[in-house]
Amino acid sequence: MRAWPVNIRKGPAVPTAFLDRDGTLNRDRAGAYVTRPSQLKIYASAPAALRIISGKGYRIVVITNQSGIARGYMTMAGSGAINLKLVRELRREGAAVDAVYFCPHGPDEKCACRKPEPGLIKEAVKDRPADMARSFVVGDKQCDLLLAKRAGLKSFLVLTGQGKAAAAGRAPAYKNLLAVARALPDLRADKAGPAAKRKKT
Ligand SMILES: [Mg+2]
Ligand SMILES: [Zn+2]
Repeated sequence: MRAWPVNIRKGPAVPTAFLDRDGTLNRDRAGAYVTRPSQLKIYASAPAALRIISGKGYRIVVITNQSGIARGYMTMAGSGAINLKLVRELRREGAAVDAVYFCPHGPDEKCACRKPEPGLIKEAVKDRPADMARSFVVGDKQCDLLLAKRAGLKSFLVLTGQGKAAAAGRAPAYKNLLAVARALPDLRADKAGPAAKRKKT
């Protein structure tokens, strides 16, 4: 389900960064859920990461499992308030999130949107098309990597949140979202040609 914004303007297919929320953009409380806006602690480096990702030509879409709703730890409205806080705080730092999608279901409900099922990405792409060949997923859990695989997207694992457990020496991992942002190809520089690229480095 789309948490934000209320209205979507369609447009051409844009390379899109599908970002996990808890553990990727904000602190993941181990063994707990972010159930109140006051518990949302955005990582200090996240705004800079988002500014770089946007600056390189990617749309930013947050996709998040929020089974705490199904488990009765928070309401839909309560979850919405947390997502709104996320978007507003990031925007204050000059970091633009284009949309937030969430799955409110529990693991037993067999819905099509709980990651690693690709329902949230399908919904996002239906709202606004993504250039899938140049889009990707970033997350701190295996389910994020599996989601990317099922959606046919590249993925990056971050070591924030529960990433250390997810990596376990197997998947290549990045220190945090900022490290991913820095490693991404700059689509705008590519467009401007080699001269602009030289100038930037
Ligand atoms: Mg996560
Ligand atoms: Zn769901």
